[in-house]
Amino acid sequence: MASKITETLQLNDVVKTYVMGTEEVHALRGVTLSIQNNEYVAIMGPSGSGKSTLMNVIGCLDIPTSGTYSLEGQMVADMSESQLAEVRNRLIGFVFQTFNLIPRADIFHNVELPLIYGGIPRAERRERAERAIERVGLADRMKHKPNELSGGQRQRVAIARALVFEPSIILADEPTGNLDTRTGDEIMAMFDELHASGQTIILVTHEDYIAEHALRTIRLKDGLIESDEKHGKLRRARDVPDVVLAASQVAV
Ligand code: ADP
Ligand code: MG
Repeated sequence: MASKITETLQLNDVVKTYVMGTEEVHALRGVTLSIQNNEYVAIMGPSGSGKSTLMNVIGCLDIPTSGTYSLEGQMVADMSESQLAEVRNRLIGFVFQTFNLIPRADIFHNVELPLIYGGIPRAERRERAERAIERVGLADRMKHKPNELSGGQRQRVAIARALVFEPSIILADEPTGNLDTRTGDEIMAMFDELHASGQTIILVTHEDYIAEHALRTIRLKDGLIESDEKHGKLRRARDVPDVVLAASQVAV
């Protein structure tokens, strides 16, 4: 469910240092940042600048070395393991560059999986998973395996999986990194649609044409925010008709 609290997340002077043997890697050197409900944010920056580390902190997959992080008004450092698991499973939906689908499971089962972990009864699982799969236009592919789908379709399955709990925040780390430009545009059309329906979206990208879909761009350099700018929608998905969102028969 989309949260009614406007300030979705707030990071204050977040530092993340990895210790590798005798060496310290300063992945984040003091990041202060707040993101409101229903923002559409692109995070950019060179390789190694700390983008994935920041996403992992925001997603509660990793804890800061110092600094504070509050999510929907609650300090993440004060959350119990079970609260953190709940946040990772229900409050935040993750989409990765490499899709991270289970190859031997069909599409339905891949999307249903977070609901099984969440202890949702079978009938409700079916209803929720089917709704999410329909939302990404793949209703006629439910019994297919991931390797029977194109890259774009696989990423749509991953988006459906991220949506099954109707999380308030979607985190996507280079979601179009493994896709060609046209397919990347199609995936971005889907993020645009999710944003229009009230979702908070934070995505990492290397590509300007992807970042231009967002309404705010944060650039990282050497673990620090180099710039943070709000902008209008600079670009809409090219060559992607609206119907594509529901048209699973479109080959991608
Ligand atoms: P980006 O996503 O912008 O390419 P990362 O956040 O992955 O950057 O990495 C930032 C820095 O932290 C890099 O120098 C990287 O090598 C280092 N780093 C990231 N994750 C780990 C880890 N688990 N252990 C040690 N060093 C890491
Ligand atoms: Mg990265």
